Amino acid sequence: MGEWPRRPWGLRLDRRRFLAASAATVLAACTSRNAANERPSTSTIPGRVDGPHLGDDPFGLGVASGDPRADGVTLWTRLAGDDLGPQRIPVAWELATDERFGRVVRHGTIDATADLGHAIHIDLDGLDPGSEFHYRFHTREHTSPTGRTRTAPARHERAPLRFAFASCQEYQEGWYTAYRDAAAGDLDLLVHLGDYIYEHGVHDDGVRRHEGGPVTTLDDYRRRYATYRSDPDLRAAHAACPWVITWDDHEVADNYTGLVAGALADPDPDPLAFARRRTAAYRAWYEHQPVRVAAPTGADLAIHRAVPWGSDVLLLALDTRQYRSEQTCSPIDIGPMCDEMRGGGPTVLGDAQHAWLERELDASAAMWNVLANQVLFAPMTFGPERSVQLDGWDGYPAARRRVTQFLDDHGVRNPVFITGDIHLSAVNDVRADVDDAASRVVATEFVGTSISSGSDAILAGFHDSIVEQNPHLRWIEHDHRGYVVCEAGPDAFTAEYRFVDDARDPESRVRTARRWAIEPGRPVAEA
Ligand code: FE
Ligand code: CA
Repeated sequence: MGEWPRRPWGLRLDRRRFLAASAATVLAACTSRNAANERPSTSTIPGRVDGPHLGDDPFGLGVASGDPRADGVTLWTRLAGDDLGPQRIPVAWELATDERFGRVVRHGTIDATADLGHAIHIDLDGLDPGSEFHYRFHTREHTSPTGRTRTAPARHERAPLRFAFASCQEYQEGWYTAYRDAAAGDLDLLVHLGDYIYEHGVHDDGVRRHEGGPVTTLDDYRRRYATYRSDPDLRAAHAACPWVITWDDHEVADNYTGLVAGALADPDPDPLAFARRRTAAYRAWYEHQPVRVAAPTGADLAIHRAVPWGSDVLLLALDTRQYRSEQTCSPIDIGPMCDEMRGGGPTVLGDAQHAWLERELDASAAMWNVLANQVLFAPMTFGPERSVQLDGWDGYPAARRRVTQFLDDHGVRNPVFITGDIHLSAVNDVRADVDDAASRVVATEFVGTSISSGSDAILAGFHDSIVEQNPHLRWIEHDHRGYVVCEAGPDAFTAEYRFVDDARDPESRVRTARRWAIEPGRPVAEA
């Protein structure tokens, strides 16, 4: 979501031409996942490791874990510093059941290599389900901060999930006070819905500055992630619990779709340049996130994935950017819907991901099926022309109908959308036919506000019109930054909106503004 008015038409790039170009220019080097390089520890004391002398502490970007499974979890760190150079650096890691590492249950050594920016991903398996662990890393002279993580409950176990969801954390526009609160919140899991970084240049009116102009190269994106991770509250939230992370547009460039750049967001109008840029951005995302996905070997990176949590929850992390077709009818991201959008062509998920989603939902026996979605799913019209955000699902009504009809026809059990992107809080009824107020409600959508990115002045300005035109909208609030804490258990799904009083004040209070609940079998949220 950006400002309007928007750009001229985005640029098209033929996929075949792109693949040919990217094969020649992009990352032909070996990119196998670090875990494959894992070798048995040569030391008897976990944590003792040989390797080069490093003057500076290489663990300034912190530690993280993610994508918990009943028998494992993925651990992450990335070494950083001026003295790393191109060398391989052995890193020892250990996982313990206690914070003091008296009971180490797994340990090993892995090489951090320059081709992955000295990032490390360790995919653990064979662990006990539903258990808490502590982990840390060592180089020859330095030890990382300690992270806390957990495995998911066993597949058939009744175990409620307490998780938070967050999105949109423009570094310059506010402090990460919401993350300080989340880090202390005793969460099982944190779900990030995208806009983890912003690619654009410096804002003069922010509370702090990141370096330089728009980021376009792998080195640029690496530096931008490193700036964001320099924030202690963000690092603390990563160290506090495992995350499940997907992406939105700003991890690459504002409002891109597939291989089509938004022209104003992209300083270089050459379509091949955008393809190279997306490749670099996806790679940097992989390097910096504790995700269990295969390391990118080229332009694409499949990240949609399922995270089951006992018998209560199936979390499905969607990718609404990579496979999306180009916006139709209008070059700008706000405007009225048009007939061309209603045809069967335009897609948000792409056919393969859509089929995957349907298979997962059909096979799911979970009490709650949570769709971790990026852009607004329910309709939201406003103004005299009944404009919508064309970058949301409103710009792809046929693709949306395919989802809602499936939820209805297949009787999917208690679907809940969690959504980011638009820097406001909202709760929506999602109907089987969103254009028919008489059709049944098949899901609730909880839209979470931004961690720090500023409120959208246009949507705030149309507040009365939004409320008047959208009877399925149960609540909307524009003025606060924050995040949402959810609990999904046998009796209810609750969503507690945690608001930061003032995200531009580093010491701001964080409080619960509103708490919503859904009962199983009745997908209508009540405050
Ligand atoms: Fe955003
Ligand atoms: Ca966005």
